[in-house]
Amino acid sequence: MLHPLKTFSRGGIHPAYNKFSADRPIEYGTVPERLLIAVNQHIGRPLEVLVKKGEEVTRGSLLAKSSGFVSSNLHAPAAGKVEKITRFPQLGGQIGETIIIKTENPGQSLKEILDSETPQSLRLDALEKEEILKKINEAGLVGMGGAGFPTHVKLSPPQEKPIDHLLINGAECEPYITCDHRLMLERSAELTRGMLILQKLFGGVPVTIGIEDNKPDAVKAMGEALAGKRGLSVAALETKYPQGGEKQLIKAILNREVPSAGLPMDVGVIVQNVATTLAVYEALVYNRPLMERALTVSGNLIKNPGNILLPIGTPVSFIMNRFEIDAARVRLLLSGGPMMGRASFSFESPLTKTSSALLFFDGDYVHRRRENPCIRCGSCIDACPMGLPVAQLTESIKGNLIAAHAKGDIMDCIECGSCTYVCPADRRLVQWMRVGKSIIRREN
Ligand code: SF4
Ligand code: SF4
Repeated sequence: MLHPLKTFSRGGIHPAYNKFSADRPIEYGTVPERLLIAVNQHIGRPLEVLVKKGEEVTRGSLLAKSSGFVSSNLHAPAAGKVEKITRFPQLGGQIGETIIIKTENPGQSLKEILDSETPQSLRLDALEKEEILKKINEAGLVGMGGAGFPTHVKLSPPQEKPIDHLLINGAECEPYITCDHRLMLERSAELTRGMLILQKLFGGVPVTIGIEDNKPDAVKAMGEALAGKRGLSVAALETKYPQGGEKQLIKAILNREVPSAGLPMDVGVIVQNVATTLAVYEALVYNRPLMERALTVSGNLIKNPGNILLPIGTPVSFIMNRFEIDAARVRLLLSGGPMMGRASFSFESPLTKTSSALLFFDGDYVHRRRENPCIRCGSCIDACPMGLPVAQLTESIKGNLIAAHAKGDIMDCIECGSCTYVCPADRRLVQWMRVGKSIIRREN
């Protein structure tokens, strides 16, 4: 069943989408000489490292195990030897504990590796909820759209929050990024099976995949794949940023409003990303932990942008080599999209479970502008999808005068960057909102 076009009601913007790699199939990458695997790639308790320097590992070896419920296992994507465990710069700028593996078969194609792994027959009707959650937990799945929240936790809401609808986030509203688009086109059958597994977890509730209408081929492919599957449907969404925000997706598809400081489960919904849903399928059908991911490589420095599947832990320099990027010309390396991504400073930083894109820009794209006084035009408030009084909030954060009643508003910011994008005074609005959130977190 195909729903009519939908969207969220408040705010939103239409940036240049620049989806230059939308028609590039996901290529299979190869195993690099070294994998640099960040130990903590998730939101939650830090992991306990299980391996030591000099230890041999095989593909799928448990490198570090979760140390509590809100935590997520980490596995070796390729065979090799642990060279060292050290602190290393991560994508996004922080320094974190990293396991460096010298791989046994550098240059081996991921296609060859994946083709050698056999699926097991899966009878959905015989699957127990506990078994599904156990496999997802063991496989170290996290939200691959960027948040990195452990998937088994998200799929285990408390009893007093019954879930009556699941949403799959196929909006991919960030400019440049196209890897989910390609997954929906190229792996629609497996994605459908992933949706059926999730549906089984919640007793057969409806599952809807929301896709922006700038991807009509994906809407069609998923519509065909879901045809005849009871409770599974596609919702074509208006192309508007940030359509892929969880709260915006829920409003658009189900017309439900997640309350301030609330979660989707407060309105009976759980949202999963496309790549995560596929990883659920692989965890159940292939017993495969999360060890590789598809990402988009783009930006104005790249002649041939593309989508590529690579082992987690692959260093940026390896990708630059493959895409023939001249390091001397890179002025900005972004992990993620231009709206919500983070600037990174090391070409040796490795991919993580949440790396949806690497964008490379030169000096023609990067402009340093001075922040000017607010002209009270109200554009930031009009653009904010959360309906926040952005200009006032950021002034109070800058003056370190956050009123008690404003704390909830600041914490409701989804850091989409729409306010900064529209501000004619070039004010660093989302950046100040982030500062405000960290002040509030520190004080509480
Ligand atoms: S970054 Fe926060 S304040 Fe700015 S538009 Fe998005 S939700 Fe609103
Ligand atoms: S968009 Fe910029 S200039 Fe306009 S009200 Fe907001 S902060 Fe002020």
